[in-house]
Amino acid sequence: MYISGWGNFPRIHSKVYRHWSINQVQSAISNSSEIIPTGLLRSYGDSALNSATLSALSLNKILNFDQSNKTITCESGVSFMELINFLSRYNLTLPVTPGTKFITIGGAIASDIHGKNHHRSGSFGSWVQSIRIISADGTIHNCSHTEEIDLFRATIGGMGLTGMILDATIRLVPLKSTSIEQITFRANDLKNLFDLFEQNKDAEYSVSWLDTNSTSDKFGRGVLFVGKEINENQELILSEPKLNIPFYFPNKTLNKLSVSLLNNLYYRVNNSGRKQVAFDEFFYPLDVLNNWNRGYGKNGFIQYQFVVPKEFSYQTITKVLKTMHQFGISSFLTVLKLMGKSNDFLLSFPMEGYTLAMDIPLSNATLELAKKIDEIIIDNGGRLYLTKDARMSEEMFWKTYTKIEDFIEIKSKYDPNNKFQSLQSKRLGVGV
Ligand SMILES: Cc1cc2nc3c(=O)[nH]c(=O)nc-3n(C[C@H](O)[C@H](O)[C@H](O)COP(=O)(O)OP(=O)(O)OC[C@H]3O[C@@H](n4cnc5c(N)ncnc54)[C@H](O)[C@@H]3O)c2cc1C
Repeated sequence: MYISGWGNFPRIHSKVYRHWSINQVQSAISNSSEIIPTGLLRSYGDSALNSATLSALSLNKILNFDQSNKTITCESGVSFMELINFLSRYNLTLPVTPGTKFITIGGAIASDIHGKNHHRSGSFGSWVQSIRIISADGTIHNCSHTEEIDLFRATIGGMGLTGMILDATIRLVPLKSTSIEQITFRANDLKNLFDLFEQNKDAEYSVSWLDTNSTSDKFGRGVLFVGKEINENQELILSEPKLNIPFYFPNKTLNKLSVSLLNNLYYRVNNSGRKQVAFDEFFYPLDVLNNWNRGYGKNGFIQYQFVVPKEFSYQTITKVLKTMHQFGISSFLTVLKLMGKSNDFLLSFPMEGYTLAMDIPLSNATLELAKKIDEIIIDNGGRLYLTKDARMSEEMFWKTYTKIEDFIEIKSKYDPNNKFQSLQSKRLGVGV
């Protein structure tokens, strides 16, 4: 069947294996010369794509729940929505969650995802106690901070390249409230936005939207949303999308003018102030609209997400926005977040600094622009997020991820014939 990541680029034909038992997973691996595990395909680019893919979606059971020790063991195809709804009955929740609830536990571990609280809670991998993984020869490994440590360090953030995660045990945190007190700060330029982030650096949650179109005295204006849990408890039930985009929009719908109008409108409707918002609305505002990625047209889009060290963040983002202005290209949806310390998982993305994510409709000019921005990111000590990437060069990857050799050494021990491969790993030269 034809499959793609969330950016709808690239779109390829793949033989999709979907299995319920470990034996079936083992034989799918042994029958394929190369294969990559997949979850809900919410990664944007080609990290979960190959001519053969191994879907985890039938591995969908909760295996053990220890309420008193606050841990849960579940199969890798269980979604965040299912888990969060289940855990809320016991006033517990997942410690880290991304901007959508439609991802799997396997995808969250393989991408070492981060949320709006990275500056306080780190990435998802820091909360993983142990993992069971099937490697290329069909062996099942139990790995953790104390067992098969090398495989553990390579698998968290390892983009599915060390094997198929079968199940994992995750540490949980108390669910303090089902709604969030949201404080909105409107920033009239980029400097003001950075100042607001720093003034709120201890907030439980923070995230901002940024207008890549604005120029002169409004350059880099944005809106910062800061969230605080309120101590009240009702049952939390996350919901399915309420609206659907039933078809792909024509490719030219999101042009410079419409993006500028929509960003202007967004800035104006988000007045500074304080209000109580539902959990779903605060953490997953985009999930309300099913298939919103079709709004970018059939050509698809890229999400260009980078992180740069704190001391260079302001200057880097200034340069990036100016370069976009020179190209006459803007991002429809742009998100800026503060990140805390990095961890020691070998291909993990976060580093202490700021991360900017921009959604840009795909065109030749977009790809040229992305190459220019790559140079700025490399010069400023940053890197791109693998789970969003569809186009980074091998050279950039090797310059900006500093532990690749360690990763490849471990991969070659568990996967000597390089069976676990994706289009991305081939492009980036992650062989053995
Ligand atoms: C609207 C939206 C908002 C997002 N917001 C954020 C955010 O705030 N922070 C963030 O960090 N990410 C964010 N993401 C990205 C998303 O969290 C990651 O791409 C995540 O990995 C997707 O999970 P998935 O189940 O869809 O995995 P897939 O997209 O199917 O796969 C992603 C990677 O995980 C590997 N993988 C999947 N399952 C397994 C398994 N069982 N065993 C081994 N490897 C496996 C795949 O090989 C692939 O490399 C967002 C995505 C969207 C669409």
